[in-house]
Amino acid sequence: MGWRTAALDSDPDAPALKVVDHPVVAPLDDPASAAKLAAVSDLLTVEWENVPVAVLEAAAKLKPVHPAPSVLGIIQDRLTQRDFLKKHGLPQTEYGEAAASPSPWPYAVVLKRRRLGYDGKGQCVVDTPADLPKAAGLLQAPCIWEKKVAFAKEVSVIIARGQDGETRCFPVAENEHRGGVLHATYAPARVPEAVAARARDLARKAAEALGHTGVMGVEMFLLPSGELLVNELAPRVHNSGHYTLDACATSQFEQHARAVCGLPLGPVEQKAPAVMVNLLGDLWAGGEPRWDTLEKVSGLTLHLYGKSSARPGRKMGHYTVTGPGAEAELAAADARLAALRR
Ligand code: AMP
Repeated sequence: MGWRTAALDSDPDAPALKVVDHPVVAPLDDPASAAKLAAVSDLLTVEWENVPVAVLEAAAKLKPVHPAPSVLGIIQDRLTQRDFLKKHGLPQTEYGEAAASPSPWPYAVVLKRRRLGYDGKGQCVVDTPADLPKAAGLLQAPCIWEKKVAFAKEVSVIIARGQDGETRCFPVAENEHRGGVLHATYAPARVPEAVAARARDLARKAAEALGHTGVMGVEMFLLPSGELLVNELAPRVHNSGHYTLDACATSQFEQHARAVCGLPLGPVEQKAPAVMVNLLGDLWAGGEPRWDTLEKVSGLTLHLYGKSSARPGRKMGHYTVTGPGAEAELAAADARLAALRR
């Protein structure tokens, strides 16, 4: 886009620092770090929602920060996020604050840490009271409980909201999680148009109520009745929107940059059906995966993030297959992943 970029990370090996014009290596929890980044920038944004609000507020005194620190403040605590959804009439599962020694719930619940949980980390499913002991460690930190949802499908909407309040949604995607981590996304979601329209409406309502600027991923549960419940708001580019890189007229990354910089939003049309499959660190257990097994797959694009160490469960990259074969590729994902292993 002809811009120069800067990025801040505490890890000198962070992938972003290798591709920006101004890498800044400094702790993320220090307002002085934000000041260093602000000094070389016209405008700041985040691609991780847990940058401390105090740091973002310090930066916002120097340069514009989008989304606003107050938006991230609401999102960073699962309890304030759920209370926010409730206040604005957005449908969600039942929830509450989990006391340190909870009494058994009359139904299965998911316990989640209020802060800093991600990819199924900081979560525990309690199907029956007999499962409670395994949640003891988790409950050392403040948690919420959520009634476990018997969903038919998980779907997500990647919405962008510009500085002028214009919103655009990419096609609704459907997601398969494994162990709390996204495994694969298929877009457009195979749901009735009325459900997709309702999903976009909920995303728009959430983005407007927050006063969000930028891209936001809105994860939802689709119930067998056709009803949608909001699971989570992620006020940044989102893993389930990576398919837009290869399949849409504008990628979610460009759209985020456009939104936070006050440019008109780009077109969101999807050129062809797409499936995105995550590549987790486990694949590296026996050595560098056999990328040659992907070379002859038509319509496949491999994206590796350049992370320095492949820990199990860490998102190292993804591949996308676009075109009429995308649906079959979703079914073929396990075989593809197996073939990649050494
Ligand atoms: P989260 O970190 O909240 O997005 O949760 C990760 C994944 O765990 C979700 O995508 C679901 O697959 C599952 N999950 C989380 N919360 C619930 C819930 N209340 N009921 C059923 N499954 C859930």
